[in-house]
Amino acid sequence: MAFFSRKSSPVILDNNVNTHFWSWQMSSTKFTLLCSVLFVVLYNTAFFKALHTALPIENAKSALFFFSVSLLVGAVTALVLSFIVLPKISKPVMAFIFIAAAGVSYFMNAYGIVIHQTMIQNTIETDTNEASGLFNSTLALYIFLLGIIPSVLLFKVKLNFSNFKNEAWNKLKLWGAILLAIVILIAPLTAEYASFFRNHKNIRQMANPVNFIYASISYISASNKSITVKPIGEDAKLNEQAKAQTKPILFVLVVGETARADHFSINGYSKPTTPLIAQQNIINYRNVYSCGTETAVSVPCMFSNLTREKYSDKKAKSQEGLLDLLKRSGYSVLWLDNNSSCKGTCDRVSYESLKNLKIPTLCNDRECFDNILLHDIDKKVNAMNGNKVIVLHPKGSHGPDYYNRYPSEMEIFKPVCKVNTLQDCTSEEINNAFDNTIRMTDQFLNNTIEWLKEKNSTYNTALIYLSDHGESLGEKNLYLHGMPYLFAPIEQKHVPFFFWFSPTFEKDSGINRQCLAGQTNTEYSHDNLFHTTLGLLNVTTSLYNVELDMVGKCRQ
Ligand SMILES: [Zn+2]
Repeated sequence: MAFFSRKSSPVILDNNVNTHFWSWQMSSTKFTLLCSVLFVVLYNTAFFKALHTALPIENAKSALFFFSVSLLVGAVTALVLSFIVLPKISKPVMAFIFIAAAGVSYFMNAYGIVIHQTMIQNTIETDTNEASGLFNSTLALYIFLLGIIPSVLLFKVKLNFSNFKNEAWNKLKLWGAILLAIVILIAPLTAEYASFFRNHKNIRQMANPVNFIYASISYISASNKSITVKPIGEDAKLNEQAKAQTKPILFVLVVGETARADHFSINGYSKPTTPLIAQQNIINYRNVYSCGTETAVSVPCMFSNLTREKYSDKKAKSQEGLLDLLKRSGYSVLWLDNNSSCKGTCDRVSYESLKNLKIPTLCNDRECFDNILLHDIDKKVNAMNGNKVIVLHPKGSHGPDYYNRYPSEMEIFKPVCKVNTLQDCTSEEINNAFDNTIRMTDQFLNNTIEWLKEKNSTYNTALIYLSDHGESLGEKNLYLHGMPYLFAPIEQKHVPFFFWFSPTFEKDSGINRQCLAGQTNTEYSHDNLFHTTLGLLNVTTSLYNVELDMVGKCRQ
């Protein structure tokens, strides 16, 4: 029997409209299998490339395994799609999957990213500016060829569903056949598959469209569980050291975006990316690592008392974090954002997004540069009471359109990659564009420190700067960030971190600068931020762990 039969017009389509166009007829089972074949063959270049790199075809056995994995992907895809191919919903849902798979295919091919639950979370939490920074003509072509065209053809298909009993029986037969096929594929190669599943989780996350369907379901089921936020550190209060402060504290925490430690000249980078902060009296740490490789993980993690090993999105969301403890101990806390959001970490403190202000000197018609975070900041500080904590969340080095993060006069390193299809640029152009964003960050941080110096007559001022994660700039053919932590290259995890203290803050806090300077090569991580901040801000609580306080051993 032919796989599908092509009928000449007129025919009656699903929507009962007489038409003179040609049409194809097929059963739900055949439709499921046909779509699965299309997905495996046309949407999985990145998957097969990664598979071939990890397990090169060198002999008959490796060739057999490669072939077996290909069939397995097809079988699993068919199994997943069989739950979607149902009367009424199959066409619109499948069209959505074709379009989404086209986009996923583009991002995997262009940037080497993999799809997991937090990637879906990032996509949903992204703003229109961030999303438009990713859009380009190649992506449009992918969407057209692999998304729109199959979707249009899909609506030409006349899907034959029989009655409920027959359909149910057909589904059972299909599931039985798929499960049998999976057993037949895996059984002779169990050792190879065991090793593959254990060691190549990232490749599994490249099987399109199963990867994003699975990740989306995990995301939806996680976010549908209503979460009650449990208080932590209810005993948090200011300690004796707080009384030694001769002025109220004004503390700034800058949560950087996508800044890579090895591209800061203060960390030994060859290009002068951080000339201004190098002139400030900072204490710079060269060996600090992020909790995650993407904002949606790193930011909640750094504000939680959970270490990277114990961290999970669910756990962090179901309990209070650093800013709650600071507020409880009497600090006024304000989060100023030029990024997408604070990812839940500032839900119970004051928050202001400045990214949509249209201040001509600080913004273009697309977005605001990070100095917007200092706009009218005196007014905001004056409106706060007592000891004050301000979190600044710049857009930093967010890619792939690095060239959009700074005004033209900050284009110091040239030539620059001026498209968001990074693979179309040379490595030099990509690095120059990225390095200009670091130079911009240098200027923004320097402005912030200069402002804190002005405030020092009224406040004991101090600042911490750290980045949420790093960035791949084409090393090992990887771009951007978001690789699963276990497989992520160091470029995505090694982050800049420094302190700046005003002389009176340092003196009143009993900080031994020389002692701190002796530890700048010690390995630290985002795990240290929670305890270091509590320590610096004189907050006592049973949750505080002096071992994780970077300043703990250097305070008199
Ligand atoms: Zn980020």
